[in-house]
Amino acid sequence: MRLPVLTDAFARTVSYLRVSLTDRCNYRCLYCMPEEGVDLVPKSDVLTFEEVERIVRVMTGFGVRRVRLTGGEPTVRKDVVELVARLGRLGLEDLAMTTNGERLVELAAPLKRAGLTRLNVSIDTLDAEKFRAITRRGNLDKVLAGIDSARAAGFRNTKINAVVMGSVNDSDVPALCAWAWAREITPRFIESMPMSDGALFVPGSFVSAAQIRARVEAAFGALENDDASGLAGVGPARYQRVVAGAHAGARVGVISAVTEPFCATCNRVRLTATGQLHTCLALDDDTDLRVPLRAGASDEELARKVLNAVTAKKEGHSFTACGTGGPRKHMVAIGG
Ligand code: SAM
Ligand code: SF4
Repeated sequence: MRLPVLTDAFARTVSYLRVSLTDRCNYRCLYCMPEEGVDLVPKSDVLTFEEVERIVRVMTGFGVRRVRLTGGEPTVRKDVVELVARLGRLGLEDLAMTTNGERLVELAAPLKRAGLTRLNVSIDTLDAEKFRAITRRGNLDKVLAGIDSARAAGFRNTKINAVVMGSVNDSDVPALCAWAWAREITPRFIESMPMSDGALFVPGSFVSAAQIRARVEAAFGALENDDASGLAGVGPARYQRVVAGAHAGARVGVISAVTEPFCATCNRVRLTATGQLHTCLALDDDTDLRVPLRAGASDEELARKVLNAVTAKKEGHSFTACGTGGPRKHMVAIGG
């Protein structure tokens, strides 16, 4: 089914889909989930592999060729390798995954064989105790071994993501950079976003993109914009590279939804594990695709729902650095 390019009312084109495979997670990161967890969706509401594949296929009709699997934690979805293999047969240019890395030792090689092209691994610190405190249950050694397994399995262009929090892991920024660069991994640092109606946001601990870059520059010298990388403009991260010295040319990305919003170049939509299409991470409006899908909607009818949702996509959001302006939804349910 060939459809027009998906363009919203602000002339932005949708070329990228994030798919949450589950709202379950084996971690409880401070900024993402309350310690007691969140109300989980009934399993019967979670899209089957056939349903995920169907929606992704409809999106490819619009020319979407880049898909990222996320969660909760995507690797806790039963038989995730089988789903990757199914999606791998759809002729996508890029089929990536964002993961906490806890299960990569056993899954990296099967995921690669199934057709996964790239990995982003979330890792906020290289201090094992701090890592456990931030994730409330994570095992740093396992994650580091998982990243090694990913390389051994043939994954390249891996990125690590760290949410930066003042007095928690802001001082870890240089160590994360050096560790990543030594492994041909690109480190990316994320401003904390006030999801969950701001309930998990600690205003005093907010660290801005400018402060993150200052930390990198204090350790490694001046940064310059890395527009030549070919990555500028295709995602929310703004990349820079070290100008001179032992790490000259090394790249670092900052995702600054709060202080430097990138809504004007937003190219993505998100599908939750239960089949709701979200055109913005930061807003609560969504479009249900599961009910029509299960009621027998045709591909054309599903495509129309997608088109209507994208046409109504808002211009931007109103996140603030003091924790207001965010959505009620939890990050763990939408997947970043
Ligand atoms: N479980 C996987 C992981 O941690 O990589 C995938 C889902 S997780 C929600 C996706 C990304 O969102 C992670 O890199 C995580 O650090 C980030 N994230 C979670 N809560 C956030 C918040 N409040 N602000 C900014 N980033 C957040
Ligand atoms: Fe789980 Fe990822 Fe959220 Fe951490 S950031 S609680 S690993 S979904």
